[in-house]
Amino acid sequence: MTIKQNVRKILSELPAGVRLVAAAKTREPREILEAIEGGAGIIGENYVQEAEKSREAVGGRAAWHFIGHLQRNKVKKAVEIFDMIETVDSAEIAREIDKRCATAGRTMPVLVEINSGREPQKSGVAPEDAEPLIREIAALPHIRVMGLMTMGPLTGHPEESRPCFAETKRLFDRIKGLKLPNVAMQYLSMGMTHSYRVALEEGANLIRIGTGIFGERPRK
Ligand SMILES: *Cc1c(COP(=O)(O)O)cnc(C)c1O
Repeated sequence: MTIKQNVRKILSELPAGVRLVAAAKTREPREILEAIEGGAGIIGENYVQEAEKSREAVGGRAAWHFIGHLQRNKVKKAVEIFDMIETVDSAEIAREIDKRCATAGRTMPVLVEINSGREPQKSGVAPEDAEPLIREIAALPHIRVMGLMTMGPLTGHPEESRPCFAETKRLFDRIKGLKLPNVAMQYLSMGMTHSYRVALEEGANLIRIGTGIFGERPRK
């Protein structure tokens, strides 16, 4: 199947209210364009420099979400490129985003990344640290917390992701219930090609799919 057909098929299977992020790391602008032609409304990028090139070529035909690990020295550029940053996991990076957004005269919607697998080498904040972090971020005037994002285990059976997704959903609901000022818990970003069906069952409303749209990534 072509990229366009893959996107159409996935979109046709999604429940109402669920949005698709086409995870485009290492993909060429023409491949991204094909995904957009198939109906992908959001492009996810892991690398700021790559995203800058792709966005230049593809333009504003889609929304751009940052889904990689954000380094402090890339925030200024990221704030120019992205419509949402899904991977905020520290007050330090949040303050840098706030500062750069203040200069740019904009507000950045962000998701807080949860390390639901509690894997030490992974990015994301531990579930128990999420609420204090969100309270801290909520005080920043140029950031708006709009939900949570998690990866879950990257390998193994999709069922192994289920407890991670379920815990992140419980956390999402609990924080939503707090009705914190300047926090709008609207998006729960969970699930990749191998795990998105499980993520949907556990309440994801934003799924991030790369391989299932663009095919296997060439090994480097
Ligand atoms: C690459 C990536 C995805 C998509 O992974 P696939 O297995 O190719 O679907 C989703 N989320 C993040 C954060 C990624 O880096």
